[in-house]
Amino acid sequence: MSGFDYLRPASLPDALAALDASGARAIGGGTDLVPRIEEGLDTPNTVVDVRHLPGARDLAVTPDGGLALGAAVRIADLARDPVVRERYPLLADAAGAVGSPALRTMGTIAGNLAQRPRCWYYRRGVSCLKTGGSGCPAAAGEHQYHGIIADGPCRTAHPSDPATALLALDASLKIVSASGGDAGAALATRTVRLADAYADAAIAATHELALGPDELITQITIPADATDGVQHWEKVTQRGAFDFALVSCAAVRRADGSVRLVLGGVGAAPWRVPHSIEEDVASGGLDDESIDALAARALYDATPLPGTTYKVRIAEAVLRRAMRAIAP
Ligand SMILES: Cc1cc2nc3c(=O)[nH]c(=O)nc-3n(C[C@H](O)[C@H](O)[C@H](O)COP(=O)(O)OP(=O)(O)OC[C@H]3O[C@@H](n4cnc5c(N)ncnc54)[C@H](O)[C@@H]3O)c2cc1C
Repeated sequence: MSGFDYLRPASLPDALAALDASGARAIGGGTDLVPRIEEGLDTPNTVVDVRHLPGARDLAVTPDGGLALGAAVRIADLARDPVVRERYPLLADAAGAVGSPALRTMGTIAGNLAQRPRCWYYRRGVSCLKTGGSGCPAAAGEHQYHGIIADGPCRTAHPSDPATALLALDASLKIVSASGGDAGAALATRTVRLADAYADAAIAATHELALGPDELITQITIPADATDGVQHWEKVTQRGAFDFALVSCAAVRRADGSVRLVLGGVGAAPWRVPHSIEEDVASGGLDDESIDALAARALYDATPLPGTTYKVRIAEAVLRRAMRAIAP
């Protein structure tokens, strides 16, 4: 493992100035970044601890009734916070499904969203799109936990449970960088929908969540109109002990009647099912036969690898249960 400096800035401008230097990386709990450094997959010369910045651990209802999460809110706090449990039960359930108690206590929400793939080829440094090569060795190799939706050459399955829930809640990221490059310069802020931030996950070599090297997520926001309604979360794993999702499902029927259905574990990013399926669920009056047909139609364009065809059946089953749980 290469050596690196550790910085713990107390202000956002100081953190951004440190990140503006070449070879610097943000670090939250370090549960994903440190193992990647140990494996030589990332070689920062400086890590910038963002957990002590003002507001980094705040979790607050916004004046319009939405929710704002500081980027370093712990996964464990999301799982048990009474406001999250009451207004966004699927997010609390998804956070509670992450790894082990130790991982949930160390891991931050921004670090969880920006974590890199668990693909064993990537993690071992085998040549692939994500390690600077081309193509996906998993496609012709060992791939039983990989994806069934192909949005690009990389066939990994996205590992984040909270990402699936936050996508169903239409969350956005507040992303900040130092536009001038020193601590006294103005800050540049942009807001991007989580769905858009993951748009090139299967295509990009350096990331799944699109962020510049000098950019920091400072906040995750959930809009007021995603509050309440009917929410449902399910995660299917291979074993009963803590594990990544084979398939997960976040489903929401908002108070205005509109529906979001998002699957995790099926593609390089959380995958929202086609809009026409959501509209049919929202229109209601579904009997068992039509639910079966809708679940099959949702996965109609899936392109599983030979070893992941079983995941299509799991995805259909979790979708059927989600439709029954939220349909009017
Ligand atoms: C054994 C094991 C089991 C796991 N099981 C699950 C599971 O079931 N479900 C699940 O969802 N996850 C699971 N994980 C992943 C775990 O939840 C993540 O490692 C953790 O959430 C990452 O958070 P962190 O704060 O430690 O991130 P870090 O390791 O600190 O950072 C991860 C990445 O995010 C970047 N980053 C961190 N903060 C910011 C910021 N504010 N702005 C911009 N970039 C930032 C870092 O630069 C880095 O690239 C598991 C991990 C392990 C090791």
